Formats: sequence, structure tokens, C-alpha cells
Amino acid sequence: MSYFSTVPQAPPDGILKLSVLSRADSDPSKVDLGVGAYRDDNGKPWVLPVVREAERRLNEDPNYNHEYMGVGGLPALTDGAQQLIFGSNSPAIGQGRVYTIQTISGTGANMVAAVFLKQFKRPADAAVYISKPTWGNHRSIFETAGHEVREYKYCNYKTLTLDIDGMLDDMRSAPEGQIFVLHACAHNPTGIDPTEEQWQQIADVMSERGHFPFFDCAYQGFATGDVDRDAYAIRLFVDRGFELLVAESFAKNMGLYGERTGCLHAVCQSSDVIPQVSSQLNRLSRATISTASAYGAKIAATVLQDPRLYEEWLQSMQDMSQRIKTMRDALRDKLVALGTPGSWDHVSQQIGMFSFTGLSKLQVDTLRNQYHLYMTDDGRISVAGLNSHNIDYVAQSIDAVVR
Ligand code: PMP
Repeated sequence: MSYFSTVPQAPPDGILKLSVLSRADSDPSKVDLGVGAYRDDNGKPWVLPVVREAERRLNEDPNYNHEYMGVGGLPALTDGAQQLIFGSNSPAIGQGRVYTIQTISGTGANMVAAVFLKQFKRPADAAVYISKPTWGNHRSIFETAGHEVREYKYCNYKTLTLDIDGMLDDMRSAPEGQIFVLHACAHNPTGIDPTEEQWQQIADVMSERGHFPFFDCAYQGFATGDVDRDAYAIRLFVDRGFELLVAESFAKNMGLYGERTGCLHAVCQSSDVIPQVSSQLNRLSRATISTASAYGAKIAATVLQDPRLYEEWLQSMQDMSQRIKTMRDALRDKLVALGTPGSWDHVSQQIGMFSFTGLSKLQVDTLRNQYHLYMTDDGRISVAGLNSHNIDYVAQSIDAVVR
């Protein structure tokens, strides 16, 4: 009998399964709105011009090599990433009470945070609360790290808007001192973000109840096109005096998906505890990845540290987020023009890379099987997969299955 025969089958990962199905479909009308990756108007991946420029510089540098990086990652990246998230004038950074470690993109940052919290959370039996719904990997990451995972209300499924009352109620009724996973901006999968006033209410309740915020920031610059506006919630919580952790990914905003470039930030009450916190984060990183990956870090650091490349990068984020907004409006307008039953304003109003369409599982299946149109089972579409060539087909297909 195999040593492994008692290993149970793991449940399939929805998004990876969808990619396999989509790749196997050679129909010319196929539209893949599954994976959350930016595409240009021809449906092609886009290497940002600043990334190409940074790569050129790296290639031409006679001192370029593939040595291991130091513990904690590349300082030019971690410093630049701190300023990007907390603001270049952040008092917390100035007071030396932020520690940043380089991670394997946003997923690695989530995992390091999950393991760190499992070992050091207070109270030790605190549960981790994730939004309902959330990025599919949140539950898996926090459960793998050994946490009990519970859900808090987030989406009003009837109106496809934020259920702020339900969310605040769940935060109030949770025992004190729980860990709350919050999407910093461009909530995945719903595309529904709290307003600034709602974030203030969330901060009030979290503070009253002594909850610990863990911000997952995978889309800074993708929600509004403005990196500072997209960091509003994180900076609000830091200004309010919260201690917190932030996972930051450069997958989407710099288009470095496969290079696995990200950071985990710990904001502490004072610099006194930084040596303890940093030593533990370094230990966890050493135990799991030993040293962080170098190539994407060097590219991202070059962009973050060079004022001209940085400005150009801000513009590229504007361009990407604007193209997505244009596609949102186009899809809404076309559905309205077709007289498709239902209201479609939410497609325009939602924010970031995704739209939670409200389509049912049955409609999603029909779109996949009869129209070669791929989206996740919950009716989420990656709006970045829409373009001027496929938008009419997508609107007509949705119209056909909704009728
Ligand atoms: N968090 C959220 C909410 C996400 O949507 C994603 C990307 N799908 C990530 C984290 C992590 O992505 P990556 O590991 O590619 O940076």
C-alpha cells in the first residue's frame, strides 16, 4: 500500500480549474474573464514600459549578478514599498515603527502574516474573520496556518452593494480582539469598496472592540488609478493609532505577476518592539523561503527609486484603471441598449479589476458551455479581459442567458 494512500483529495481551486478549461477551449469566440490579470485592448498581457526600461538597465549593469539577497529582502524595494503604502511623509515611518520584509508576492505576504499571527496572536484563541465573499485563497491560507476562520457580512447580494450594517454588526458582536482581514481597496471578488465615511465607521468599531486589522493590498493604483487614494483605509488606520499588518503585492500594479514581488509591513505602536517583531518575521521567512526572489524586486525597486520612472508608472496605472473603467461603462451601456432584464449600474459603479455581475451559477455555466465565455462560478468577471473587439459578443451572450 502506498505511503500516500491515506492522503485525501484536495478540493479543486476554482480559478485554476477555470484557467485549464479556458485554455483547452479553442473556439475563436472564446473570451476569458477568469483570471485577474490585466490585458490590453487586444487581449494581450502588457509589460509596463517602466518595467521594460528597468529590465534594460539591469541587463546593461556590468555589476549585475544573481547572488542571494540579504535577510528581509532588497532594502531599495522594502523602503520604496513602505513609502508607497504609508505615504512618503508617514510619521509612523519617521518614528521608526514600521518593519517591512520582502515576500513571495501578496500570497507569500498573507502566509507569513498568517503564520506570524498564529504564533503570536493575543488572545491566543482569536479567530480570523474574512469577508463574505473574499479572495478564495484567504480561507485556505489562514486555515493552513492553523487559524479558525469565520466570515463577516460584506456584500448585500440583492443590491450588489456593501452591507455596511451587517459588517459593523458582525464586528460588534465578535468577541474582543479578533483578527479581521480587510481588503485595502478593489475588493476581490465584488469590486465593492467602503466609502471613506464607511472606513471611519469600520475603524471606530474595530477600535471599540480591540480587533486587529490585517490589510490585504493587492490592487493599489487599480481602484482609482491614484495610489494615495487607494491607500486611504490603511493610512486612516495608522493615523488612528492601530497596530496592524499589511500585505502588499506588485503583481497587478506593476504587472510583475510571475516574478512574485511583494512585501509584508508591520506597523507597531513604538520602535521598541521592532527588534522582536523583525527578528520573528525574518525567522519565518528564513524557514520558508530562506531569501526572497531577486529579479522582480530589482525591477520594482528601480521603478520606485527613480523619480522619472516612478512618475511614468503612476501614469501607466492611470491608463490601466481608465481602460477598465471604460470597459465597465461600455458593458453597462450595451446591456442597457439591448434591454437586458435587470439593472446593470453596479457594473459601472464597482471598482478595481473585477465586477460581481450577479449572474447565477446556472447562467455562468451556460455562458461557459454554450458561449465560450469564462468567468468564476460566483459570477465574477475580470473586467480587464474585456476589450473593444469582444465587448459586443460578451454583452450579447449575457443578454441571451439572462432572458
Ligand atoms: N490578495 C488578493 C485579495 C488578491 O486578489 C490577490 C491576487 N489574486 C492576492 C492577494 C495575491 O496575489 P499575488 O500573490 O499574485 O501577489
